[in-house]
This record gives sequence, structure tokens and C-alpha cells, in this order.
Amino acid sequence: MTDLEIEEKLKEIFEQNYELLKLEGGHALTEATKNDAFQQILYYYRKLSDVAKKVTDTEVKLTLPDQKTPEGRSFTIEGIVDIVREDDEVWMYDIKTHDPLYVRSNLDFYQKQLNVYSYIWENLRGNKLDHTAVISTVLPDGLKNSIVEGNVSRAEKEFADWQPIIEIPFKEENVQSTIADFADTVDNIEKHCFTPPPVEILNSLIEGTRSKFATRICRNCDARFSCSSFREYATSIQKGTNMNFKKYYEDYGSDVEKEEFINASLISERSNDIQL
Ligand code: SF4
Repeated sequence: MTDLEIEEKLKEIFEQNYELLKLEGGHALTEATKNDAFQQILYYYRKLSDVAKKVTDTEVKLTLPDQKTPEGRSFTIEGIVDIVREDDEVWMYDIKTHDPLYVRSNLDFYQKQLNVYSYIWENLRGNKLDHTAVISTVLPDGLKNSIVEGNVSRAEKEFADWQPIIEIPFKEENVQSTIADFADTVDNIEKHCFTPPPVEILNSLIEGTRSKFATRICRNCDARFSCSSFREYATSIQKGTNMNFKKYYEDYGSDVEKEEFINASLISERSNDIQL
């Protein structure tokens, strides 16, 4: 297949997936948002087509069964990775939808996960492994903006500077403490112990970003409706302002995002009417 044929195939698969997700989730996108989503896939493919063509084992399911928590509960750790074997070297890639700056600023978090995967790959499956890395699928802001502005020369430069592969050396000596962290989390979930972080954390900036924990994480968390820390945060934010507390809890995104959602749903409704 030529590159052009591959990109046409990507478009076809994208459209099929979109229609499926629309039926399953009942949500539609405006043409502009849909186009942005496809642009992301296209640029991601163009940047990483070399790696994509070299993948030898895709979506490898790694399982660490029969683990025990301190309180005696059984649990299994599972993960999905891609493997590339090239020139006597083996790479393990973990694909994430997080932006590269965020990944680079929180390497410890990603390393823990990769440590467990590499432990399973090498010790339990008996395979060789030389490198582990995260692949960040998010386009950098500079590239996104230059595409939207139609600034071709800037887009070319941003594209060339973009580094979506972030190598994170694995350290298997830390595996047991990572598994112990998972075990504690399992016990806490089973005991319904969901103590949220203190409100200071919600007010703090996430490493590598200019976003607060409350806006980047809590805004997408369904538990915010019953979370004491988020309630404290929302109350402190509205102090001295005219902000309606109820409106804060009904925050479903910015005005632009809400308008997009309404427009897309209306367009989708209209096209369904025509088909009927
Ligand atoms: S709203 Fe969700 S993410 Fe935020 S602190 Fe509460 S439980 Fe954690």
C-alpha cells in the first residue's frame, strides 16, 4: 500500500468508528471537531509511521495473576503494550493519550507501570527487552494551533520538533513496591475507602502543565458530585464572587464546548430525521 492509500484507509476506518461510537454513546461531533480528531490521527500516523510499520507484536496483553493484597484479597494486573524487534534490540511501547510535556514531568508514575510490564515480559514470559518507552498520541499545542491557522511553514517546523516517543528506562528492582501500591489500592477500593486528596492538591498545578488538579482531573471525574475536597474547592472559589455554586457542580465544559455539543446533537438529529 502507498502512503496515500494508507491515509485513505485511515479515513475510512475513522468514519466507521465514528458512526459506531455515535450509535453506542448517543453523542455526535460537529464537522470542525470531527475534522480536528482526524487531523490528530493523520499527523500521529505520519510522525510514527516508521514505528507502526516495524511493530512485531501489537496489543500484547501482559498479565500478572494470583497477586494478594495485605488483607488477603486476590487480584490480577493487566496491561496492553506494543513490541518492536529491530536490529537485535527489543522495544516495548505503552501508548498514552497524555501530552509529552506532562509525561516528561511525571516520569516516575509512568516508570512504575512500565516496570511491571517489563517484569512480566522478561521474567514471566522469558523474552528479551532492551528499551521501554511511552508514545504520547496528543499533538503539541504549537502544531495544533499552526494547523488551525493554516500556517504551513510553522506546522512543518512544529511537526519536525515534535518528540512523541519518550524513553523511560525500566528498573525492575522497584517492581515489588509498585505491586504493593496496587495491592493497597485494591484493598482500599474493596473497603470503599475513597479518601480524596486534600484541597491543597486540587489547588496546585499539575507538574508540566499550567492546569490545576481541580480543572484538569476533577472536572472529568464523576465522583466530584459527592467529593468533599471538590466541594471545599468549589466553595472557596465562589467566595466573594457571584458564581452560582450549583452551576459549578453542573460544569460540563466551557461555553464553546457546550455549544459544540448542542450543535452536533442537533445536526445529528436532523440527519437521522432525513434517513427516517
Ligand atoms: S473530584 Fe474526583 S479526582 Fe477530584 S479529588 Fe474528588 S475524587 Fe479525586
